[in-house]
Amino acid sequence: MSENCIFCKIIAGEIPSKKVYEDDVCVAFNDISPQAPTHILVIPREHFASLDEAETKHKETLGHLLLSAAEIARQSGFAKNGYRVVINTNDDGGQTVFHLHVHLLGGRQFIFPPG
Ligand code: 5GP
Ligand code: ZN
Repeated sequence: MSENCIFCKIIAGEIPSKKVYEDDVCVAFNDISPQAPTHILVIPREHFASLDEAETKHKETLGHLLLSAAEIARQSGFAKNGYRVVINTNDDGGQTVFHLHVHLLGGRQFIFPPG
C-alpha cells in the first residue's frame, strides 16, 4: 500500500467503490466518472505507479489484468459487440491517478485515434 494513493485506499476499503470483480491479484470497480455505458477500472493489488514503472517482475500481473478485463467484458455481455481497454501513462497519456490501472470501456462505439 502506498500512502495517499486513492486506489490503494479503494483496495483497503477506506474509500467506497462499486466492485464488480476481485481476486488475489486484482480488483475491478466502476469508474466514478464513466466515459461509456460501462466503464470499469481493473487495478493490481500491488501498487506501482504506471506502465512506465512496470518491470519484468510485473509481467504476470499485467497479463492477469488484461485477461481479467476480457473476462469481465464477457460476463458483462458486451464482449462480442466489442470494447476498448486503455492504459493512460504519465502526463501526455492523460494519467491522473498514479496506481497502474486498465480502463475497460464498453456499451458504445469508440473512435480511433482517441483525442
Ligand atoms: P486516469 O486518468 O489516471 O487514466 O484514470 C483515473 C480514473 O480514475 C478516472 O477515469 C477517474 O474518473 C477515476 N477515479 C478517480 N478517483 C476515483 C475514485 O475515488 N473512485 C473511482 N471509482 N474512480 C475514480
Ligand atoms: Zn496505490
